[in-house]
Formats: sequence, C-alpha cells, structure tokens
Amino acid sequence: MEKRIASYFSQFKVPAEVISFVDRPVGHYIGGSEVHTTSDQIDLIEPFTCERLTGVANGTVADVDLAVRSARSALTGEWGRLPPLERQRLILRLADAIETDADVLSHLESIDVGKSISEARSIDVAGAIANLQYFAGWTSKLDGRTTKAVALPGETLTYTVKEPVGVVAAIIPWNFPLQILSWKLAAALACGCTIVCKPSEQTPLSAMRVAHLAAMVGFPAGVINVVNGFGHVIGQALAAHKGVDKVSFTGSTPVGKAVGKTSLDSMKRLTLELGGKSPVIVTGKANLDRAASAILSGVFLNSGQVCDAGSRVYVHRSVHEELVHKLWTGAENLPVGAGLDPASKITPLVSPAHRNKVFDHIGSAHAEGAEFVTGEMDSESQRSDGIVRPTIFDNCSENMRIFRDEIFGPVLGVSHYDTLDEATDRANSGDFGLAAAVYSENIDETIMLSRRLKAGNIYINAHGLLDPTMPFGGLGASGFGKDMGAEQLDGFLSTKSIYVQVAGHSTTD
Ligand code: NAD
Repeated sequence: MEKRIASYFSQFKVPAEVISFVDRPVGHYIGGSEVHTTSDQIDLIEPFTCERLTGVANGTVADVDLAVRSARSALTGEWGRLPPLERQRLILRLADAIETDADVLSHLESIDVGKSISEARSIDVAGAIANLQYFAGWTSKLDGRTTKAVALPGETLTYTVKEPVGVVAAIIPWNFPLQILSWKLAAALACGCTIVCKPSEQTPLSAMRVAHLAAMVGFPAGVINVVNGFGHVIGQALAAHKGVDKVSFTGSTPVGKAVGKTSLDSMKRLTLELGGKSPVIVTGKANLDRAASAILSGVFLNSGQVCDAGSRVYVHRSVHEELVHKLWTGAENLPVGAGLDPASKITPLVSPAHRNKVFDHIGSAHAEGAEFVTGEMDSESQRSDGIVRPTIFDNCSENMRIFRDEIFGPVLGVSHYDTLDEATDRANSGDFGLAAAVYSENIDETIMLSRRLKAGNIYINAHGLLDPTMPFGGLGASGFGKDMGAEQLDGFLSTKSIYVQVAGHSTTD
C-alpha cells in the first residue's frame, strides 16, 4: 500500500478487514466465486491521496461471455426453481448481511468514490438495505390476472402469468455504486432474474463485496455476477450479448444513447437512467431559511456528484438578494475535508480528471459573465486533496454553460425571475427532465408548479428525497423506465397471455 494511503488509513483507523479486501488485485465475480482471468489491471486511485489503492481486472469480452453463461445456467437451474418465499428469504438475508457489514461497506464506498463516510453509512448502505428489504416482499406478489373474455365464442379461460425477463445486465455509474447496484439488484432478484453487474471501472469495490456477501448467505452460484473493466469493452459487450435479455443502465446521456442503440439491435428490454440539470424554483412566498438549507444539501450532497442535484435556482426578484446571502453563508460553512473524516460534507471528487472537468465549467461561468459569489475563484485550484469547494454563481442565464450542462460537481447557479410563468418556462427549457424542486409556503403555488414542471421527480420544500416505494426516473434526455417503486417490477417481468378453449361446452349449457 502506498505511503500517503497507509497514513490516511491509520489516521482514520480503517478496519483491518477493509485493508485486506483492497490490498490485493480485484478480479471478477462469476459463477459463485471471485475469478482472476487476467493479470491486466486497471489502477484504482484513492481520491483524497490521489495514490494507487489497488488494481481491478481489466476484463474482456470473454469474461462477459462467461458471466452471461453462468447467469443463464443459474436461471434454468436451482434459482429458477426456488419458490418465491425462498427468494424472499435469501434477499432478506442479503439485506441483513449488508447491515452486519455496514462498517466495511461504508469504508469501501468512501475510499473508492472519495465520498463522506457519514453519507456512505446513512445514504448508500442504509439505502441498499431498505431497497432489498422492500423488494423482498414483492417476490410473493407478482401475480397475473384472470380475465373474463368479452369477444370470444364458446367457453374460454383467459389469464396472464408474469415471468422473469431473464438475464439482466446492470451497468452502474461511480457516484452511488452500492445504492444504484441495489436499485437494480433488489428488483431483478425479486422478479426471479439473474444478473451480471458492470460497476464503473473507477468504483468496483462495493459490488464485489456484495457478491461475496450474497454467496455467504446462500445465493446459488451464477445468480449474481460482477464483471470488471472499461465501459466501452464490458458495458458494450453486455449490451450486444445475445444471452442478455434486459439492460438496466444508469449513467451519462451520451453513453446511455449508445448503450440503447446497441441493446435494441438485439431487441433487449431497456431502462435508461441518465443525466440531469434539475431546476429549483423559489417563490416570493418561500420560507427562505428552509429553502436555503434544502437547496444547499440538494446540490452539494456527495460533493455535487448527484444526478438529480438542483443546480440551477430561479428565485423571485423580491427575495433574490436575501436567498443568495443565505446560500453564500451556508456554503461557506460546509465542512470540507477527507472522505474518511466523519465531520466532512464536501470531500474529494472521484478523480483528478473529473475535477478538471468541473474546473473547466467554473472557468466557463467566469468567462461567460456569471457573477461569482463564493467557492473556487480560479479555473485551477492549487489544492492537492482532490476537493472542489462549494461554488456559487449569481445572475446566470440559459445561454451560459453553467445553466445548461450537467456539471456533476459542487457548483450552483442562481438567477432571478419576475413571474411564475417566466420561472416555469425557464425551468422547463433544456433537454433534461430528471427532477425539479419548488420552495413555497403557499399550497396552491406548490401544487400548480408541481403539475407544470416537466420532470420525473418533483420535490416540494425539499430536495433529493428517495424511498424504495417511489419510482425514480426521468423524461427527455434523462432517459426512460423507472428504478424503485412497484413500477420498476414491470421492467424485469414479461407478461404471458394464456387462452384456454374449453371443449364441449357452449355458453348456454
Ligand atoms: P458514464 O456514462 O460514463 O458510465 C456509466 C457506466 O457505463 C459505467 O459503468 C461505465 O463503465 C459504463 N460505460 C462507459 N462507456 C460505455 C459504453 N460505451 N458502453 C457501455 N457501457 C459504458 O457515467 P458516469 O460518469 O459513471 O456517471 C455519471 C453520470 O451518471 C451522470 O450523467 C449522472 O447524471 C448519471 N446518473 C444518473 C442517475 C439516474 O438515476 N438518472 C443516477 C446516477 C448517475
């Protein structure tokens, strides 16, 4: 282990089990065990020290093929024959195992992504447990319907059955690796599918840990597989593989479009959860303390690396100055530091390359005339810890990149408006439609705006709330299909219609 990482780990008393999990080459998880098919490794860089943490297998198309075959044979084998209540029991046991392993998993998530260990525990790990617990209950409720045919002659029995869609490829981004894995895993398993997961090449550790835990609690070999490697190789091979029945992708819009095209070439079922640039409307009737606090957590959670981050604020002219002042003081008071420090809220971004991208956006906001309020002044910071301080610009407009592009970092743009019609038109401009938020103490305003805003998720006097019962997904360039909620189940099930002609009876017998 490299020097700065060793001293970072010792400062924050990283458990020995975490160190032994990362201090080795990480392989794939295929057919019920970790396999090392290659010595070719991708370096994993720890975001706070910017040093090499470990290496992860640089997988190939052959690894994908092995994993898909393994998932297929589990589907037609023991897993496919398990009664729903047995599936439920296994999923609940996995949730329990994650709970027992919470300390290890939150450390892994923090050192892989750079994120706050407190958030890793309270959001990522807790969210994964809740998803598994919620979807475990669905295993026994996936009934079809019996219909009364209305246009058929004679006596018939007409009914539908729900069947697992088959082998699912889950392609996962780096910002919430464990939680987003659990979105796909919980529903796919509940429906009786088997799964091949492709974590981001930057953050594979929690998926590998979950695969080990699943084997430990008794999941049959091949039900949960993890193939590591680069997206254009592993993700692309999964989208193209004829043995994959469904692709559930979460990631950026350009990659999602490419994955969608490849998947449709072989007529796979498809869910695309893509990027966002979520607007926030603060009316003249908002409680500004409440609004400022929720806006700050909605845009700076996970250091801004959140798909539904409320990153462009439209505030009524009458309260504009006051809100900006509250946002400014709130942002300056956010604790900045290492991910493993439980007090930190703003932590290193996932990689130096991503940090450069965020600085490029900050540079463009300065250049395009947005008014700097607080945060990173220069287009390149001198800091060596991977952190970008929470940055706010005022007087932004839709022709600036800061108000158009997904930045995926701790950068907030603000603008003022005069009428609610203007605010909604401007909020609805742009290609994305993932989320939107409204702050107002007037119930009529909140209901009217929630109807007018074009987004899959609307938050009122809050931002970024998530619950396993609520479907999450976007419109337009933010993709289609849902994760979580009962609506997600449809994405992992096929409905078969069965017609039985009853012989020898007429309706008058
Ligand atoms: P990304 O699109 O670069 O990568 C996502 C996944 O796709 C990774 O596993 C990557 O290895 C893989 N991939 C890359 N190229 C591929 C290819 N050619 N074929 C198949 N797979 C490929 O996204 P990212 O940078 O990891 O994540 C950030 C993006 O994810 C942001 O745009 C964010 O908004 C989005 N996101 C969306 C949601 C949502 O629910 N809508 C949630 C989290 C993140």
